[in-house]
Amino acid sequence: MRFRLTARYMLDHDLISIRYINDLLFCERRAALHLNEQIWKDNQFTTEGMLSHKRVDVPKNLRRGGIRSVTGMWLVSYRLGLIGKGDLIEFHANESDASIPYPVDFKRGKKRRWDNNESQLCAQALCLEEMLNVSVPRGAIFHIRSQHREEVEFDTDLRTKTENAAKRLRELIVSRSTPTAKFHPKCKGCSLLEWCMPKSLRPRATASKYLQDIIDNRLADPRERDML
Ligand code: SF4
Repeated sequence: MRFRLTARYMLDHDLISIRYINDLLFCERRAALHLNEQIWKDNQFTTEGMLSHKRVDVPKNLRRGGIRSVTGMWLVSYRLGLIGKGDLIEFHANESDASIPYPVDFKRGKKRRWDNNESQLCAQALCLEEMLNVSVPRGAIFHIRSQHREEVEFDTDLRTKTENAAKRLRELIVSRSTPTAKFHPKCKGCSLLEWCMPKSLRPRATASKYLQDIIDNRLADPRERDML
């Protein structure tokens, strides 16, 4: 499959970059700030992510130990409306000597608590399945610092989570809506913190809100509700 990816191509074919899957699962507002409002800012984590992909961004076709490996391969799913580049796709022979793709995603930094790297990798597998009409049961995340491969199985739950994320991304784009900010501990690691201002945009602690909270809490308690 050969084509040159341009912004025009993505627009014409209604495709969204696979990397927004991780973004959306991290925070819907972050995905919308990127996609709908075009707000970009890098921090340590995003810069590390970019650097980790430099080496494998160039298309190469290699053969080592009987395994064919392709770097920088374009992946696309028209069903899910996703496009992206696979860092490394290995082709492993199975018992019937068929060539089964095995996507490997490179990560430079430590895994953060709220990362969704497995879904991003699963999206690559779903693209490969559609492109090559094969089943892709597993792949791996390669941690550059530790040189460790973590195998990921693309089970039903992970596939459903990934497909739902792709649908939600499209909904956000079509509606042009940006969810409101809610402060969460993960915001501290978000490169958009300064622009998003989740603390200042949260609902204000007004006296009427305070009273409403007391009433709501009482209504939730059956003993209190009977007394009201
Ligand atoms: S700062 Fe928090 S709420 Fe705002 S985009 Fe980032 S993660 Fe989402």
